[in-house]
Amino acid sequence: GITLDVTDREVARARLQGLYDELLHVSRLADAGVMASGLVHEVAQPLTAATSAVQAAKLTAHRAADLLPRELQEGLAQACGLGEGQLARAGEILEGLRACIIPHGTVRSPEALRPLVDDACILAMVGFGRSRIEMRNAVPEGLPDVLVNAVQIRQLLFNLLRNAIQALAERGAAAAAPAVTVTAYAQDDVVTVQVADNGPGLAPEVAAQLFEPFVTTKPDGMGIGLSLCRSIVEAHGGSICAEANPGGGVAFRFTLPVAHRDEAARAKQDEDGAHGSG
Ligand code: ADP
Repeated sequence: GITLDVTDREVARARLQGLYDELLHVSRLADAGVMASGLVHEVAQPLTAATSAVQAAKLTAHRAADLLPRELQEGLAQACGLGEGQLARAGEILEGLRACIIPHGTVRSPEALRPLVDDACILAMVGFGRSRIEMRNAVPEGLPDVLVNAVQIRQLLFNLLRNAIQALAERGAAAAAPAVTVTAYAQDDVVTVQVADNGPGLAPEVAAQLFEPFVTTKPDGMGIGLSLCRSIVEAHGGSICAEANPGGGVAFRFTLPVAHRDEAARAKQDEDGAHGSG
C-alpha cells in the first residue's frame, strides 16, 4: 500500500512539474509575442510615413523633370526606387512578426473544462499554499466539451486565477473569506466561463484599458497577462470582458466554442493523420 501511495505521489508531482514547465514555456513565448506586437505597432507608423515621403519625392522629381538634367533625374529615380524596395522589405518583416504573435499551437481538440480548471488552480496556488484563499472549481460535471488548445486554455485560466489570488493576497486582507470561484454554463454552441474573486476590485486607472498590453498597477508587473488572455480567447473565436462583482471584487467572463461530436471525430482523424504521416 505504501509503495503504491509513494508512486502515486511521484506521478502527481511529475505531472505538476510537466504542467509548470509547459506554462513557463508558453508564457515566455507569449512575452516575446507581446514585445513583438508592441514593436510592430511602434515601427509600422514611421514606416508608413517614410513610404509616403518617398512617394512624394518621386512625384516631385517627376513634376520637376523639365528643370533637372538627365543624370540627376536618373539618380533621383534610382534612390527613390531603392528606398521603396527597402521599405517594402521592412513591411514584409513586420508582417512576418505579426504572424508570430499568437502563442504557439493551433491544434485543438475536444476537452473537458473541469480538469483544465483543476490544473490551473493547482498551478496558480503555488507559493500561496499557506494563505486563507479558497479556490472553488464550480464548473458542472456534465458541461459539454470545448474545442480548444488545452495548453493555451490552461495559460488563460492560470493568468486570471493568479491575478485574482494576487489581488486577494495583497489588498484583499479585509475580505472575511477570500475566495476565487470558477463557474461555467453552456448555451447554444458556446460555453461561458467566469472567474470571480471577492478582492478589492479593479483600480480605476486600469479599468478602461484592462486588456491592452503594458497596463499594470503592480510594481514588478509587465501588464501582458490580460492582453495574452484576450489573444487566446479571440484566437478561439470568443470574447472576454471584466465586470465589478456585485459582492465586491472582479468577475472575468470569456467564451469558448462547444466541441460537436463531428468535430471530435474530425480532430481524432487529424490526429491519426498527423501520426500516420509521421
Ligand atoms: P500584470 O499582472 O503584470 O499587472 P495583467 O495584464 O495580468 O498584468 O493585469 C493588469 C492589471 O489588471 C493588474 O496590474 C491589476 O491592476 C488588474 N487586475 C487584473 N486582475 C485583477 C483582479 N482579479 N482584481 C483586481 N485587479 C486586477
